Amino acid sequence: MRKFEDTYRHKGLRKKLMDTLREKGITDERVLEAMNNIPRHFFLDTAFDNIAYEDKAFPIAENQTISQPYTVAYQTQLLQVKPQEKVLEIGTGSTYQATVLAEMGAKVFTIERQKKLFEKTKNYIFKSKYPNLKFFYGDGFEGLPTFAPFDKVIITAAAPFIPPKLIDQLKPGGKMVVPVDEDHHQRMLRITKNADGSTSEEAFQNFSFVPMLSGKNG
Ligand code: SAH
Repeated sequence: MRKFEDTYRHKGLRKKLMDTLREKGITDERVLEAMNNIPRHFFLDTAFDNIAYEDKAFPIAENQTISQPYTVAYQTQLLQVKPQEKVLEIGTGSTYQATVLAEMGAKVFTIERQKKLFEKTKNYIFKSKYPNLKFFYGDGFEGLPTFAPFDKVIITAAAPFIPPKLIDQLKPGGKMVVPVDEDHHQRMLRITKNADGSTSEEAFQNFSFVPMLSGKNG
């Protein structure tokens, strides 16, 4: 059995990482506080213990990645999450991003299409700490109609287009943060659903994500 320890060294490295994120332009202290509270090294293989607090993406199982801390902070900041809001995440992956949202007090519903990654969430380390975080196996393009509508939607894989069913599942006034494919990168977009059901779009900087694929795998 793996022993999970959050030592003074880990905590110190984490604090430094938060300073790096501030230097790179992250300003929402609630996001930084949540990330400072979560031991990122718990979400990685022990081989990454010494580098877990570098501002880098790392491989996890099934050829997927845990997003770079800067990317997690950036998307979370754009999402403007408030406590008790219902948030749908597409792409559970390592569960790190979902944990950040749960730590901020949101009711989090996260979907993963890779069966093996979903199976791992059965041993999710913070199960008792975050009863507000629920895991689903499915295709993110379909969303979760039974639990809709959501205040916020966050997509953590490169979307070929803005998934229409996820717009349907947003509340009026709700927001979606989604990296959408352009040539060799993704442009971060924030979509706001207006009261009349129409949408407005804001464009931000470019990122690089693993692809959002349709259908389930496994
Ligand atoms: N949020 C994750 C990032 C994981 S990378 C983290 O914090 O670690 C993106 C994830 O999206 C991968 O695990 C991939 O399998 C998943 N994914 C890709 N397309 C998907 C889809 N259509 N539905 C659900 N998950 C999807």
